[in-house]
Amino acid sequence: MNSIIFKTRKFLRNRLLDILSINTVPKKGVHILNGHFLSLNPNANPEIFQHLLEGLQKKGVEFINFEDAANLIVNKNIPRNKCLVAFTWDDGFEECFTKIKPVLDSWDLKAAFFINPNFIDGDLEYRKHFKKNIVLTDKNPMTWEMIKTLANQGHVIGAHTLDHLSLDSENTNFLRKQIEGSKFRIEEQLGAEVKHFAFPFGQLKYISAIGVDIACKTFPFVYSQDNYRHYFSFDGRVINRRHFECDWPLNHVIYFLKSKSF
Ligand SMILES: [Zn+2]
Repeated sequence: MNSIIFKTRKFLRNRLLDILSINTVPKKGVHILNGHFLSLNPNANPEIFQHLLEGLQKKGVEFINFEDAANLIVNKNIPRNKCLVAFTWDDGFEECFTKIKPVLDSWDLKAAFFINPNFIDGDLEYRKHFKKNIVLTDKNPMTWEMIKTLANQGHVIGAHTLDHLSLDSENTNFLRKQIEGSKFRIEEQLGAEVKHFAFPFGQLKYISAIGVDIACKTFPFVYSQDNYRHYFSFDGRVINRRHFECDWPLNHVIYFLKSKSF
């Protein structure tokens, strides 16, 4: 029953977006998009992402490496005559490496991947719980080898907590363990500083004020996936990203490249 409601809602949302997105154009500014995988369909071909990039480019979008986009936003150095788009993916699924990375390589484009160390290192039981109850997909995580290859090739590896839990908590020990612990574990593997953090579930309600404080003390760059008409939330301390997935229709993605303000 739930799946019927979910499918009906998704269908209605997509038809509404079909109508709303007629004749929309990408708005000028710097946009950081945030996805999770190539597609929920395990048989999807990476060409769908390739076609999305080609379609965006034809509409005037220019792609930019993730770190350059983050620096432009933090320095409030937004070009007024261009629509610049950078990409991030959360949760560290294997197909980020096997299906998305090859497309990024063909565009010579560097992205960011926000990962959960315990999903990578967890035993079968942990992973089963993580997939079924937390990320709601049966996809496996990247290995540390894959993640090291991404980092060595210039992509950014960011932290996304140890266990992908909501940070809407006042418990300082819990928050520090999830936030600082994920930084420590990734740095241990990569032998390099981790500067970027995206909190799980993305909406502003999923992190407490104390959580924002700890995250901003631990990382120079902290990201949400909310409030995408504004560059920042939490008084300029958190950079907002916009949700997309690689298999969304071109017009829907363009529709979400809205005008933004500080
Ligand atoms: Zn996530």
